[in-house]
Amino acid sequence: MGSTFVGMPAFPEAARGALADSQLRRNMAHATGTIREKRARVVAEVPGWEELRLTGAAVKDAALLDLGRHLVDLESALRANGAVVHWARDAAEACAIVASVAHDHDAEEVVKVKSMATQEIGLNEALAADGIAAWETDLAELIVQLGDDLPSHILVPAIHRNRAEIREIFLRRMAEAGRPAPADLTDDPAALAEAAREHLREKFLRAKVAVSGANFAVAETGTLVVVESEGNGRMCLTLPEVLVSVVGIEKVVPTWQDLAPMLQLLPRSSTGERMNPYTSTWSGVTPGDGPQEVHVVLLDNGRTRALADEVGRQALRCIRCSACLNVCPVYERVGGHAYGSVYPGPIGAILNPLMRGPGSNEQVDSLPYASSLCGACFEVCPVRIDIPEVLVDLRAQVVDAHRGDRVPKPEALAMRATAYAFTDARRLSAGERISGLAGRLLDSVSRTTLPGGRRGSSWLPGPFTAWTSARDLPNPPRESFRAWWRRTGGGRR
Ligand code: SF4
Repeated sequence: MGSTFVGMPAFPEAARGALADSQLRRNMAHATGTIREKRARVVAEVPGWEELRLTGAAVKDAALLDLGRHLVDLESALRANGAVVHWARDAAEACAIVASVAHDHDAEEVVKVKSMATQEIGLNEALAADGIAAWETDLAELIVQLGDDLPSHILVPAIHRNRAEIREIFLRRMAEAGRPAPADLTDDPAALAEAAREHLREKFLRAKVAVSGANFAVAETGTLVVVESEGNGRMCLTLPEVLVSVVGIEKVVPTWQDLAPMLQLLPRSSTGERMNPYTSTWSGVTPGDGPQEVHVVLLDNGRTRALADEVGRQALRCIRCSACLNVCPVYERVGGHAYGSVYPGPIGAILNPLMRGPGSNEQVDSLPYASSLCGACFEVCPVRIDIPEVLVDLRAQVVDAHRGDRVPKPEALAMRATAYAFTDARRLSAGERISGLAGRLLDSVSRTTLPGGRRGSSWLPGPFTAWTSARDLPNPPRESFRAWWRRTGGGRR
């Protein structure tokens, strides 16, 4: 079981398919609307919310500014606490480390706490290829895994599924993965949760190795922190003998004091709760309590690339709350799969290009354009990531990455033609005359109803239809400003 985003089409193509799925749009509108409303209510209760946001942003910025030192401090503290620390440059290295730990303990299966970092590196697929089954224990992740599906939301990966679909998945697939769902299972949420609980419990009790991520890593004490709602994380972090935690290097905060604002910002922004039900912290090995072998894999996988980007490095402040997804009008309509990544929505539209590099492929290059730049994401972001600013900068980087292409894009050709006309007064005058003629011609066409009931410039043929099918294209003015100035003496005659 397991799927992958590899080979996903560019955003416009993927979005077209998603937009045609009315069930998906209904599920998304209902789910994002509910979370939005909950978040707004609990955020409004905090009088100093804006100050808290500023503090959260400052904490993460300070940590990123001296990331090397904090990571070395974290490593030393973890080692002093009995943990084994590994460094992974990329996904392949991280997956190989986790597989080798599992093999060292003859484990044919591992249980997993919900973790974006392990999804990012494709850990489940890599372990499966190595003969190790990785079982997701978060309810929404379990639904995605059993449905052989892809996650579509950072916090609620099965947000695109409704209750009836989940019941059908449980009935059809649970037996293949362990304890089957009861034959009389209904789509009542309590019944679905009970079926998942029974199914997962035997896995928790059987597994020797658990894999987690971490929401934060406190450098001063070598403490990892997982924030969750269901208690499955607490089970994974305490019951198995061995724990492997894959942690993105940007998760480090220098001190416990720095952790305080983050733990206030995260639950209100993510699940719309004042406080999350479970906050687990562990600092290496505690004799006689919990896993007696702890490995921590510190993962780069493009993060240092993002850190080197002066505008984009603010994306590394992200605490994966998903508030930006829930307010994004684009995300609400197309869902998460269209972004072709485990990081969908506004944060995915910047994080993927920043970590992989603009120009790396067509799918990545399409993401900075998957936004209306309305700014709603910035307004809700608890760590004040100015996503629109980064999107605009990345668009410029995408254009720059393609300047040397042998076959230039239509935009590049249009810009070259514009530059050619604008850099010479005579060429500009000639262009204005042609444009005026075109304006007169289109004005007369606009008065005529055209085939298909369309009118005027919306009918433009060929490559122009991609633009005019969704937008108005005003006809060029019949007379340019310079011609008007010459004719009227600047409005004096
Ligand atoms: S960018 Fe901000 S709002 Fe979006 S997931 Fe990250 S922290 Fe949350």
